[in-house]
Amino acid sequence: MATNRTFTMIKPDAVENGHIGAILEKITAAGFRIVAMKYTQLSRRDAELFYEIHKERPFFDELVTFMSRGPIVAAILEKDNAVEDFRTLIGATNPAEAAEGTIRKLFATSIGENAVHGSDSDENAAIEGAFHFSGREIF
Ligand code: GDP
Repeated sequence: MATNRTFTMIKPDAVENGHIGAILEKITAAGFRIVAMKYTQLSRRDAELFYEIHKERPFFDELVTFMSRGPIVAAILEKDNAVEDFRTLIGATNPAEAAEGTIRKLFATSIGENAVHGSDSDENAAIEGAFHFSGREIF
């Protein structure tokens, strides 16, 4: 059954480049309600666990180093058809291939440093949200 929630992170590159406010504005303007949010930093171990599915990929070490190098904004977002609509809003993994107006087209610099995360399924949205938030941090 499709749920109405997804999970996102504003990644270290976008935080470093001063894009937190602009990205949150795009997210809320697109109709997503923020039901949980925190400014935090992943340890290397956190990043390894979060991206465990990619551990055999050649870019895994680069990804873990990148995702743990500075603060992120983590959030759970609510909207009808949240997972799919948020993937549309952020655009393709590689910003060079992302559609005009998408968050990655506007704010990402490379396929690795691509500004935002968006869950790819309802199941992963629930797992990733629970990775970052306890029940009393979700509103
Ligand atoms: P997503 O679902 O669009 O985020 O893409 P994936 O699940 O395929 O990859 C997860 C994350 O790994 C991406 O968002 C990037 O930050 C990173 N990544 C993916 N492909 C590459 C790559 O070829 N090189 C590097 N350095 N990072 C990558």
